[in-house]
Order: sequence, then C-alpha cells, then structure tokens
Amino acid sequence: MTRNAGEPVRIIYHPVYLTPYSTASCETPDRVRSIMTHLGSRYPVVEPEPCTDDDILLCHSEGLLIMERHADERFLAARTAAGGAILCARLALDGLVPFGVLRPPGHHANPDHNWGFCFFNNMAIAISRLIRDGLVNSAVILDIDLHFGDGTDVIFRGNPGVRVLNIQSSTPGEFIAETRSALESIQGADILGISAGFDQYERDWGANLSTEDYRTIGEIAGGFARTRTGGRIFAILEGGYFVPDLGKNTVALIEGMCAGRAG
Ligand SMILES: [Zn+2]
Repeated sequence: MTRNAGEPVRIIYHPVYLTPYSTASCETPDRVRSIMTHLGSRYPVVEPEPCTDDDILLCHSEGLLIMERHADERFLAARTAAGGAILCARLALDGLVPFGVLRPPGHHANPDHNWGFCFFNNMAIAISRLIRDGLVNSAVILDIDLHFGDGTDVIFRGNPGVRVLNIQSSTPGEFIAETRSALESIQGADILGISAGFDQYERDWGANLSTEDYRTIGEIAGGFARTRTGGRIFAILEGGYFVPDLGKNTVALIEGMCAGRAG
C-alpha cells in the first residue's frame, strides 16, 4: 500500500439519511450513525443533492415514483440516497474513491415494485445516469450483500453494457474465490460499482465473512479497477445489521479498495 493510498477517499453522506421513517426495526438510522461515528474525521465528507424525478424514471416506473412521492416521511431520504449514489459515481470518474454511507439502501428496488427496506435502486440509478449523460458506456456492479440484489439484476437484464455480479457463497474461502473469478471473467468496463452490504459478516445474519475478508474483497475489487476500469471504482452501502461493527467493516473495505487500486 502506498503512503497516500487513502487520500482519494471521499465519504458521501447527508444527515437526512438519519430520518426515522417507518421500516423494519433492524433497518435503523443507527446503522449510518454508527458508521459515521467510526469514520470520524478520517476522510473528507461530501453532501449530495436529492436526485430528480428524471433520474428515478431511468430505472423505475411512473407508478412507483407516484407511490413513493406519497410516502412523505421517507421520500426526501430516498431521493437523497439515489443522489448520493450518483455523486459517488461522478466522483469516481474524477479519480476519487467514494464510499456512499447511504440510507435507505436500494438493491431490492425493482422497476415497478420494491421491498427489503429499499425504495429506489441507488446503484442502478447512478450507473444509468452516467450512461445517459454519455460519461460511460459500460459498467460492472459487484453486489456482496447477503441477499441477492434482485432489483439491480432485473433493471440491467438484457443490457450487454452492464454486468451485475451477485456473490452468494456461504464460506469465506468460497466467497473470496467467487468474487475473484467473477471479476476475472470480465475483460474490462468503464467503471466498477460495489453494492456493499455487510450482512455476510460473521456476527451478522450471514455468519460468514470477517473484517479482514472485507479488506481482501476490497483489494480484489481495487485490483480489478486498476487493471480493467482505469481505476474508476466506488462503493455504496446496502444491508448490514450488526451495528457495532459496521464502521470497522466499512473502513476495511475502503482500505482494501485503495490498496488494490494503488497496486
Ligand atoms: Zn442484505
């Protein structure tokens, strides 16, 4: 790891992510609060804007947008989470290594329905926006959450420019090997986005990966970015419910991404 390998990191975060909207009790504002407390002043923080209706309509039906607009208590948080993902992707194009401490998460948001504490598909909206703006032609999405990212998978199904990789192995060795081989199967792309769920953690529901495993996964992804995406990489928070260790797992993934990207 080079001396300044952490320098390009930016944390994308907005206090509106703490909004106490009604959802499952495990998907608490304490998740992002805990991560931000742990990150402290380690990295610069950038506040995003909410995304626009047009951004949402890149991936979702008008019916879903109208339904969510009526969910007053969480609509601004959901739009700002998607806006945060867009900002992450834009900053990655500028050579930074952004991590979005976003809430609500997004990978279970499908074109016309949503579930699993997700409302808009933050990752899919971010990648679709870059494509619409002519900034990238291709992308790889690496989803390391415990749960299959069905929304992202459906949104990009049949789109040859966007490859969605859901890693699902249930032992650490197999999970890391699957991550490596899934990425190695791809020649290259313009950008890599990681849907970073931490619910595969050994003390979380998945009872699988250690903190050091998250570092290793970050290194593999960072190495892929170095050789195959021109260094363009970012990550956004999806699931993860063992609140006390979300911060240290986030840092491990970020440090791994930087180390792998630096070579
Ligand atoms: Zn999950």
